[in-house]
Amino acid sequence: MQVDRWIQEIGKAYFPPLANMAILTEEVGELARVIVRCYGPQIAKKSDLERNLEEELADVLWVVVCLANQTGVDLTEAFRKTLQKKTERDKNRFNNLTIQ
Ligand SMILES: [Mg+2]
Repeated sequence: MQVDRWIQEIGKAYFPPLANMAILTEEVGELARVIVRCYGPQIAKKSDLERNLEEELADVLWVVVCLANQTGVDLTEAFRKTLQKKTERDKNRFNNLTIQ
């Protein structure tokens, strides 16, 4: 709802879904860059450290919410269903998992 209000008041209109898909891909790339540079084997440059994980995760979420809003998906309900599906499917899946 907050995103939709922002779009109506400030953004004026949603980008078309295909454009938002491209923007989502771009944002996921930015998120990947932060993760690989800050949490992976690559060495972070100063400019990498100025972009933070929190900001890039929120950028991805923003575009996902835009896509849901403009296509009529109730993201809250969709997430509830996904959580239920994963709980039923995986309730015993990780019982013997050890993280190295
Ligand atoms: Mg970003």
